[in-house]
Amino acid sequence: MQTIRIAKGKEKQLLRHHPWVFSKAFDPNGLDDGIVRVEAYDGSFIAWGMYDSKSHIPLHLLSWKEHETIDASWWQGRIRESVLRRKRYLTGSDRQDTTFRLIFGEADMLPGLVADVYGTMIRLIISSHMAWERKDIAVTTLAGLLHPSLIVVTTDSNYTSIEAIPKSALFWKDGAYFTPEGKLEAVRFKESGLFYEIIPGMGQKSGFYCDQRENRKLIERYAQGATMLDAFCYTGGFTLHALKAGASHVDMMDASEDALHQALVHIHINQDQQTIPSDSRGKVTTTCCNVFEQMRSLKENYYDLMVLDPPKLAKTKSQAETASRAYKDLNRLAMAKIKNGGIIATFSCSGAIDRETFRMILAWAAMDAGVELQILDTLGAGDDHPIRISFPESEYLKGYIVRIIK
Ligand code: SAH
Repeated sequence: MQTIRIAKGKEKQLLRHHPWVFSKAFDPNGLDDGIVRVEAYDGSFIAWGMYDSKSHIPLHLLSWKEHETIDASWWQGRIRESVLRRKRYLTGSDRQDTTFRLIFGEADMLPGLVADVYGTMIRLIISSHMAWERKDIAVTTLAGLLHPSLIVVTTDSNYTSIEAIPKSALFWKDGAYFTPEGKLEAVRFKESGLFYEIIPGMGQKSGFYCDQRENRKLIERYAQGATMLDAFCYTGGFTLHALKAGASHVDMMDASEDALHQALVHIHINQDQQTIPSDSRGKVTTTCCNVFEQMRSLKENYYDLMVLDPPKLAKTKSQAETASRAYKDLNRLAMAKIKNGGIIATFSCSGAIDRETFRMILAWAAMDAGVELQILDTLGAGDDHPIRISFPESEYLKGYIVRIIK
């Protein structure tokens, strides 16, 4: 068994159960990739970890229990526990949510492994080399527990190069991987009783942001009779809820033509299913654009309600400052353009920008726009995306519902 000695003074984060250790904390010379016993400078046990020289995080801590053995059955056990924690999403006769997060990486003590459920399909999203090497354990364990019709193994494009993992997707069905011939059929699922579809695979339209479930529902409170802007709408989750609640008009904006097309497909599906009013299609427009630019030419005193849900603008801590400026600019323009008394639901999904910083950004934006801002609600992801307190990065989604007073 290999041992890693943590340099004196560098052990605090490890003792607090933060799972990431960078190479400044130990000497990687002569280490082989694999399970390691991690010790403090005095030789006392801290945790079991995985040393992986191919990863941008060379040491991931896995267990703080000395008696545990990190083998295949340990991984299976962790996956099973994670699934059991989502029991309420998996049971019940009239389930309104058939999409949810089954495994949330580090927050479920499984570094780099995320799994989302879409109806009868499971999608794995892998962001660490270690999790990539254990994908077969994840696939067979989840198949044995949940009997999905299809499992798609994808990698997170933000991490493919820094973790030396491939960009391609793997498809698994009936006990084996297979190569699809042509496009796979769309998979339909429900969130809060509304219908959505994805095309299994990689890239646009192959995913769905189930972390916004609770916030999409909340928007209904403010949408009745409203003229709304759904900025960064993707496939229209917020728009569908606004229409359901009686919005009079919604302008959807996104940089992806495919996503906007799919948003319209979702409106048609839900009209047919009578989950939104039958005249909904006539109440929406779509604009394919760069929202950051488009905000400058937005009509003034026109919108009652705006949703701002940009992509992750800071991928790392080093990008936090530039990203803060972009968040501020976006929110400042929204505040300046919205009607007096209008409501903005504004989000950041950058793990590198914490909740207090995001709130500060909104304060600066309000000051520059010359408006008063009232916070009406503080938002995050649902309970299928738990925040592990020793891993603050798991609180990546932050949002506020604010009222603008001019
Ligand atoms: N609100 C959506 C999720 C948004 S994800 C939902 O509820 O499902 C972020 C979206 O921003 C993606 O659809 C992406 O295509 C879009 N996007 C990224 N950069 C953009 C830009 N500069 N202008 C407009 N849209 C952009």
